[in-house]
Amino acid sequence: MKLPRIGILAKGCDGRSIVCLIKENQIPRENIYIIGISCNGMIDVGKAQNYVCKMQEVEIISAEEKSGSILLEDEDKRKVELKKEDILTDVCECCQYTNPLIYDVLIGEEVKKNKNEQQEAFIKEFEKKPLEERWKYFQEQASKCIRCYACRQACPNCYCKECFAEQTKPKWIGVTDNISDIMFFQIGRIFHQAGRCIDCGACVRACPMGIDLRIFTYKLIKDVKEFFGYEAGISLEEAPPLATFKSDDKQEFITEP
Ligand code: SF4
Ligand code: SF4
Ligand code: SF4
Repeated sequence: MKLPRIGILAKGCDGRSIVCLIKENQIPRENIYIIGISCNGMIDVGKAQNYVCKMQEVEIISAEEKSGSILLEDEDKRKVELKKEDILTDVCECCQYTNPLIYDVLIGEEVKKNKNEQQEAFIKEFEKKPLEERWKYFQEQASKCIRCYACRQACPNCYCKECFAEQTKPKWIGVTDNISDIMFFQIGRIFHQAGRCIDCGACVRACPMGIDLRIFTYKLIKDVKEFFGYEAGISLEEAPPLATFKSDDKQEFITEP
């Protein structure tokens, strides 16, 4: 049966996700028509609410963009105008792919990529910390997890019909919310993103517990780039590092048991 062709609007991060899904045989390229949109970034609703009402008790009901600023109105009819750059999501603040890399037609002018120095410096600081301290940070973050799976559901890479976290035959991990099961789930979810995560931030935005998920996936992105010179969602041709093997692959990350 011939599949219908579907139109998809794609910002830079969406385009990278589409590249990954085509490579993983989830979308036939010929069945989609990609309408690319150059992107100036998305607003972080949490940051905006903190500006508007400090307590996040009031809903923002409208937002209007005007040359570099955002006019917000809350349910009490209070209005506030904020600089867009002050309320961008963290991923958008340092986005390197503001223009889609794959499209059939591009809408609007291309825009500049953003500065990434702050995020790079932050990760370098984290890497300098002793192993115990990093592990403690992971445990602290994991201990907040209620295992709602919103991060997984929001992730464009998580399309398995049955997630390893819920499989019973075989059963990989327990389904409880005790810390060891949660850590297994998080480690599995994060490692399944190796060479695939496109730093779209959807998991972070979906998490109701405000868990710092990005530090772990971003570290993985950095390691895959450094060890294998690979970034996800950039090229339709280049094989992902976990789908290929070279005898001179770097393997400093493998430690003795
Ligand atoms: S990460 Fe943000 S700035 Fe970059 S393309 Fe996606 S939405 Fe736009
Ligand atoms: S940032 Fe999160 S949602 Fe986006 S691809 Fe990576 S793991 Fe998935
Ligand atoms: S969205 Fe947050 S709380 Fe829910 S499973 Fe993911 S990390 Fe845990």
